[in-house]
Amino acid sequence: MTYDYDLVVIGAGSGGVRAARMAATYGAKVAIIEEFRVGGTCVIRGCVPKKLYVYASRFHDLFDVASSFGWQVDATFDWATLVANKEKEITRLESGYTANLEKPGVEIIKDRAVVAGPNSVHLVGQGRDLSARYLLIATGGHPYIPHIPGAELAITSNEAFDLPQLPHSILIEGGGYIAVEFATIFAGLGVNTTIIYRGDCILRGFDDDMRRGLEAGLIERGIRLIYQTTIKSMSRQGDDISVNFSDGVTAPFGAVMFATGRTPNVHGLGLDKVGVELTSTGAIKVDAYSQTSVTSIYAVGDVTGRAQLTPVAIREGWYFAETVFNNNKLAVDHSQIPTAVFSDPEIGVIGLTEAEAATHGDIDVYLARFRPMINTLSTRTERMVLKLITEKDGGKVLGCHILGPGAAEMIQLVAIPMGMGATKADFDRTIALHPSAAEELVTFKAPTYTYRNGEKLGG
Ligand code: FAD
Repeated sequence: MTYDYDLVVIGAGSGGVRAARMAATYGAKVAIIEEFRVGGTCVIRGCVPKKLYVYASRFHDLFDVASSFGWQVDATFDWATLVANKEKEITRLESGYTANLEKPGVEIIKDRAVVAGPNSVHLVGQGRDLSARYLLIATGGHPYIPHIPGAELAITSNEAFDLPQLPHSILIEGGGYIAVEFATIFAGLGVNTTIIYRGDCILRGFDDDMRRGLEAGLIERGIRLIYQTTIKSMSRQGDDISVNFSDGVTAPFGAVMFATGRTPNVHGLGLDKVGVELTSTGAIKVDAYSQTSVTSIYAVGDVTGRAQLTPVAIREGWYFAETVFNNNKLAVDHSQIPTAVFSDPEIGVIGLTEAEAATHGDIDVYLARFRPMINTLSTRTERMVLKLITEKDGGKVLGCHILGPGAAEMIQLVAIPMGMGATKADFDRTIALHPSAAEELVTFKAPTYTYRNGEKLGG
């Protein structure tokens, strides 16, 4: 059987681009189909613009402490400049991604694709079919929008980067990392910001000290938190949106943003017709090598619902290409993934939370709380939090959780020794770098408290 291509990839985001490029490097004839912009969520409306906006918003904190270092700052902010400069940067990255695909010979097709068979794809715009020995679905996800009256008045992260102007106030529904990151972005840029969340604390699944520490940091920055409440309905009220809450209260906001989770892009892809199985959460079911229930069809990235992070999608795409086109069978290890929340204060974590570790045998917990040095000349009271969780026997480091300036950069480096199975003794042998916040990780003496037989002792 001959095919038009060895591989057709649907979706030119983090996972699809890496898979296409690597497969082409190994000699495969590859086409990649993209309905929006090359680079996908991360480059166009995710990690990259988000981090740029985080930088923009953090000047607020710097201006706040500037006078304690002798500076007088009279600053104003122009949203249009930020949006235009962001657009210039993501367009530059988009061209870079395009060039990286074209160099090894990947054909880029701008269209919407649907799966037409185990070895064929239909191009919706062009109205033609392509055949391939293998198909790779890397279609990512999209923001979930609650089904409530007036939902069309709200924005999601897709629109937040390109608002025509900053609203005077914003209500963000959600408690995950996208909700808290956008809350600190908007608040830092001077928008009166409120988070509404149905749970009882933001960042479910993170270590409790990170959750409570961030909660305090958000409140210190003037962000209002409303828990155990949801939005029931919305309606237009002049330039504002009038929001009805589940507790019966009604209030106007300049904008409302849903950050209520992301849904895998499987709808209308034709997967049911070819027998590609989905998980109970609607993601594509894959094995350790990213192969679906149809042997010629693979899937990587957010559409598989595994970790929903760019470096993970990239690694899955790379290992798919190794396995299928380089005779080098590789499975991604999803067990230890460093994660950051680029809120203010920032969070960086890897490994088990304290609650998880406490169910894995006897553990020691080392905890430090202190004012980050940049705040010590000012009246700011915010604390930095560093937590190391180790096994009692052998001292293997099970988890590291950091809240405060530089947390993400620190955790990326902590991920290396943790991946090598480092113990507390390995951390202790390391000479501290002074003055730094990270030196706390190598200078912990006695545990702050312990867990023995699941019971917390001391602390
Ligand atoms: P995507 O990058 O989403 O790419 C999928 C591509 O497929 C898209 O370009 C889409 O247009 C295209 N497509 C979909 N359906 C079709 C079709 N039928 N035909 C043709 N094309 C199609 N991750 C991090 O690691 N760090 C962060 O700081 C971070 N911040 C984020 C902030 C926000 C606001 C968001 C939304 C996400 C963030 N992420 C972050 C997550 C990260 O963006 C995703 O995990 C990553 O982009 C997933 O890559 P992917 O290849 O699976 O899908």
